[in-house]
Amino acid sequence: MSELDQLARALAAGLADWARETEVLVAGAGLAGFAAALEAAQAGRQVMLLEKQPEIGGSTLLSGGAMGFAGTAEQIAQGIADSDERLAEDLLSVGGRQNDPALVATYVAHQRETHAWLKAMGVVFRSVQLGGGQSVPRSNRVDTRQMIGALAERAAAAGVVLATDTAVLRLVRGAEGRVLGAVVRLGDQVQGIRALGGVVLATGGFSRNEALLAIYAPAQRQALRIGGRGNVGDGLLMGCALGAGLRDMGHVRGTFGVHPAAGPEDLSIIHPIYKGAIAVNREGHRFTDESASYKIIGDACLQQPGGLAFQVFDAPVMAQSVPGVATSDMAAGLADGRVVQAPTLAALAEKLGIPVAPFEATVARYNADALAGRDSQFGRTALAAGYGRLHPIAEAPFYGLPSTSAVLATYAGLAVDTGMRVLDVFGTPIEGLFAAGEVIGGLHGAAYMTGSSLGKSAIFGRLAGRGAAGG
Ligand SMILES: Cc1cc2nc3c(=O)[nH]c(=O)nc-3n(C[C@H](O)[C@H](O)[C@H](O)COP(=O)(O)OP(=O)(O)OC[C@H]3O[C@@H](n4cnc5c(N)ncnc54)[C@H](O)[C@@H]3O)c2cc1C
Repeated sequence: MSELDQLARALAAGLADWARETEVLVAGAGLAGFAAALEAAQAGRQVMLLEKQPEIGGSTLLSGGAMGFAGTAEQIAQGIADSDERLAEDLLSVGGRQNDPALVATYVAHQRETHAWLKAMGVVFRSVQLGGGQSVPRSNRVDTRQMIGALAERAAAAGVVLATDTAVLRLVRGAEGRVLGAVVRLGDQVQGIRALGGVVLATGGFSRNEALLAIYAPAQRQALRIGGRGNVGDGLLMGCALGAGLRDMGHVRGTFGVHPAAGPEDLSIIHPIYKGAIAVNREGHRFTDESASYKIIGDACLQQPGGLAFQVFDAPVMAQSVPGVATSDMAAGLADGRVVQAPTLAALAEKLGIPVAPFEATVARYNADALAGRDSQFGRTALAAGYGRLHPIAEAPFYGLPSTSAVLATYAGLAVDTGMRVLDVFGTPIEGLFAAGEVIGGLHGAAYMTGSSLGKSAIFGRLAGRGAAGG
């Protein structure tokens, strides 16, 4: 038996001493962890927030900063009419109605209040963009560094004790079945920390764990991997070790729109498809309805020769670049060489290494369809999820962006109830154990609406913190 397991057993049996005690112990200092820690501290609890890496922020920091909130002041200022009902329908529809409806309802019930809470914590919301699976623009943008910085500042002010370089590696469960605390590694020291109120797992997903991806997402073998260095599924495994149930594991998918040269911590994703681009493969053919969720397009892309595609667009789409918003900043892609520019479609095809004749025929057919308002190949009717009108790709210069799919979040994991209590395989809560953020499953179902992963980290993180604080 490992040293960690031995200590966990001894602590559970009262044969070893706890090194420290707190009321709420939160594992993982990304968005979900900070939301949980802050909520518990604001409820008057003593909170320890432990982060495995030397730095805080996890995948949250690397992300595009799109948060799926509906009916926000920022949407209203841009003239966008949105509602709870529309948000719920989009989440269910993009998830193929395989989502847990109770979690969707919980997300929707708490989303506006969480948006306001984030603002009250000092988080600054910027423009609103259209994202995958959204029937109206709903990606409320934040600068992730600003958000994590603001939350860290508030957490410190609220008395949260933050320890980096400290990994939570085993849960300690007492004879009555309640989680009593955790075994943690601090440098080369292994010790037990008792958590009187509860433990919150906010350890993120497993996009950086090849062994888990091989089991749960074998179809993603060819996809790139992007994510926080600590996102190797620790929380998932600790939950499983106590008999936790799992949700959505068969639906782990990559995200389309990632540049093929992107490294494991690069935010190299641009989505001109949602502004009017089409996607063609190396042979010059379209292969999908580009208005679909980029998860669905990601899978379709992996089926293409070399797992590669090109997002192709023209000057009016380029003119919609949003400086500083990575996923909408085509101009930045042009400036750093990811986006290729050419004066004609034929020249573009040559630069991209696509055969000219089929490529020109593909664009000509799409343009005729766009003018007729009906996509005769894949039934595309809009820019994304029913929103926005198709327009032909006709105004020079023309652009191409090499794109592939990357597993950058895993959107599947521990089963939880609406209070973020972790449920065992039979649906019974594991007392004293809560989870939130990317480590949980159930919200997304079969696919993902842009912004719902950061959204759930904030919304469910707060609920988990509240639960561990005693409700
Ligand atoms: C490139 C990229 C772009 C994205 N864009 C978006 C977007 O625009 N909108 C959206 O909704 N989602 C997006 N996502 C997904 C989203 O960022 C994540 O799902 C979300 O940030 C997860 O938050 P979290 O707090 O659960 O996990 P994280 O932010 O990953 O935090 C988890 C933390 O736990 C730590 N940890 C892990 N194991 C342990 C342990 N054993 N002990 C202690 N600490 C541990 C990790 O080191 C990490 O710091 C994107 C992801 C990536 C990678």
